[in-house]
Amino acid sequence: MKIINPATEEVITELQETTKVELREILESLHKGQVVWAKRSVEERLERIIRFGELIQVNVNELAEILTSETGKPLQQSLNEIKGAQNRIEHLRQNAEKWLAPETIVDSGSTREKIVYEPLGVIANISAWNFPYNVGYNVFLYALVAGNSVLYKPSEFASLTGKQFEKYLRQAGISENVFQCVVGDGSLGQQILKSDLDGYFFTGSHATGLHIATTVAHKLVPVQLELGGKDPLYVMDDVTDVKQAAINAAEGAFYNNGQSCCAVERIYVSEKIHDEFVDALVAEVKSYKIGDPMNLETFVGPLTRKQQLQVLKNQVADAKSKGADLSSGGKEIEGIGYYFQPTVLINCTHEMEVMKAESFGPIIGIQKVSSDEEALQLMADTEYGLTAAIFSNDEKRALNLLKELNVGTVYWNCCDRVSPNVPWSGRNNSGLGSTLSAQGIRAFVQPKSYHLRP
Ligand code: NAD
Repeated sequence: MKIINPATEEVITELQETTKVELREILESLHKGQVVWAKRSVEERLERIIRFGELIQVNVNELAEILTSETGKPLQQSLNEIKGAQNRIEHLRQNAEKWLAPETIVDSGSTREKIVYEPLGVIANISAWNFPYNVGYNVFLYALVAGNSVLYKPSEFASLTGKQFEKYLRQAGISENVFQCVVGDGSLGQQILKSDLDGYFFTGSHATGLHIATTVAHKLVPVQLELGGKDPLYVMDDVTDVKQAAINAAEGAFYNNGQSCCAVERIYVSEKIHDEFVDALVAEVKSYKIGDPMNLETFVGPLTRKQQLQVLKNQVADAKSKGADLSSGGKEIEGIGYYFQPTVLINCTHEMEVMKAESFGPIIGIQKVSSDEEALQLMADTEYGLTAAIFSNDEKRALNLLKELNVGTVYWNCCDRVSPNVPWSGRNNSGLGSTLSAQGIRAFVQPKSYHLRP
């Protein structure tokens, strides 16, 4: 499998894809290893994860360069991701023992009752490329601490990074029959669906997630899906610092080139501040440094996947044909690399793809609204349910709307944010189940109930 640098379009290296026979052997070894791994205490398992985190810290510069070279993520953002994802390890350090410990529910009377949390077994982690540290850690670190073995399939666009995870987990004392990183694209993923696994944990697009859930349904094993979004932001008329609101909104939309599951994908702005907000947002977007992602000053690099350029071009053409105006960008950047101009479309409506379908790129649609009711109705008009945000000076007014929305996460005066302390979950086409928080620890165990009569 050729690994392409999206900034230079050069082949960085070629990796040998995992074959069917290798996959079968790996799974046999993971099943054997899991039995031994599960017998270790949570503390012992956690020690290795903490060591892994230390190794990642020490090697952060090299790892960031690898991430940038295969995904085009600007180097500063690669460094941020690698350092930022350490908060998952800290969360596990503080919480894993508590949430994985047996619980005595009834300790008196004729029958004692307790719950023991047992690992699922060998789980598959089929993952995405856009934040490989964040979304990988959310699954495989939590699964390992809970006593599972992990078959990790990184995206074909982040395989070098996936191989680094394996290298440092190994150095941290996690053996090859407890964690294995396999290399391949969707066809290898398909083989994994046919294989003998005790749970499927997926991060990626709605289409693939739905395919996975339906394909493995007959196995009756846990399936968890972290999928895409079309996340709205509503900027209310009472915002006092409109310029700062626009800067924050732009960051939510354009960080990582808009390739975040919880990126701001559509903005509704009160008509009272609309023009001021748009002017400030466009000025901010025009100030972004675009170019070589290896340069620490770059904020917008190339897209990771070439095919996404066409999706963005289609969204721009569709929006323009239906009456939107282009305030900035709108075109692929000529030359080498998969670059697209940071794009702002105004006067958008829900007739347009840019307000309905996940863009996953440096493009934002803005629509003017005249009331909270109109904004709420538009925010709710989506098949996705990942996050929703409101910028306002009035917490009560914002929460009154946010509580009405069928999404897994809501933000007041912030956006595009994930924390290990609270669950990360999507509703409707954004997914099923939760990672992170206590729920994210318990996602990797199954309860066994004990009824004991001495
Ligand atoms: P994708 O669905 O194209 O691929 C994801 C993974 O599925 C890859 O490893 C791929 O090889 C594998 N795959 C493809 N076909 C398969 C098949 N038939 N069987 C099994 N596996 C198969 O998604 P992507 O482009 O890697 O990721 C982008 C998407 O992920 C976006 O929609 C984004 O919003 C979403 N995402 C969601 C979250 C979240 O936490 N909710 C986080 C990051 C990304």
